[in-house]
Amino acid sequence: MWNKLLNDKECEFVTNTTCVFCGSSDLKQFDIKFVEKHWKPFPEAVNLRCQACMGQFNQKFPNTHLISRLYKEHYPAQNSGLTRFKIHFKVEEFYIPVLEVGPGDNGISNICKNGYYAAEISRTASKFPVLFEDFTIEMIDEAKTLGIEAIVSCDCIEHMVRPRMLFDNAYAILPPDGLLYIHFGELHDPKNPQKARQIPHINNPSWKSVEMMCERKFNIIDRGSGSPHQSGWIFKRL
Ligand SMILES: [Zn+2]
Repeated sequence: MWNKLLNDKECEFVTNTTCVFCGSSDLKQFDIKFVEKHWKPFPEAVNLRCQACMGQFNQKFPNTHLISRLYKEHYPAQNSGLTRFKIHFKVEEFYIPVLEVGPGDNGISNICKNGYYAAEISRTASKFPVLFEDFTIEMIDEAKTLGIEAIVSCDCIEHMVRPRMLFDNAYAILPPDGLLYIHFGELHDPKNPQKARQIPHINNPSWKSVEMMCERKFNIIDRGSGSPHQSGWIFKRL
């Protein structure tokens, strides 16, 4: 697949020179095992580890155009979103307006009883048919008029080129005390960082990366205490 895509001039990769989580330029190459799942590894899939937050990510990321195309054309639909959300967050129904980030074809709309909006490039009926990290000021202003009180991101942040934007845009959209639910497809404890990375996951934050991304924006109210692998975290907007 890569050979075909790489012949396309629009399929460029961007080299990361600073940490995608905390912005530090103190980066070191770090050996990690890549597990082929869904896709073969990106070309030159060198892994970097930030020495400030210990988060890990690929040295080269697909540009925005390429990543949109990959998710639209090549990422298999996963049917487990709602089940997974219920298991990780113990939420059966929402009675507040919810914005879901990157739900694919299957999200949590069935349990949202008082307003549901999706930010999803591959879904034609999406309220916001763009990547969440690419929201414009106008989209943020529009989202603010919808009364959204919770933002849900299940298995999305590990695919984001700019994962910090999940926190920045959620902060911009939510009111004070608004809730942010993030299920991390991969999240590692800095004490045990050596683990396999699934392709096409392009980033893998540490606990400290998450703490730094939500600094002055969100309080962490649950670090996945009841969630398998502690990967479903809940945040409250300051
Ligand atoms: Zn960092």
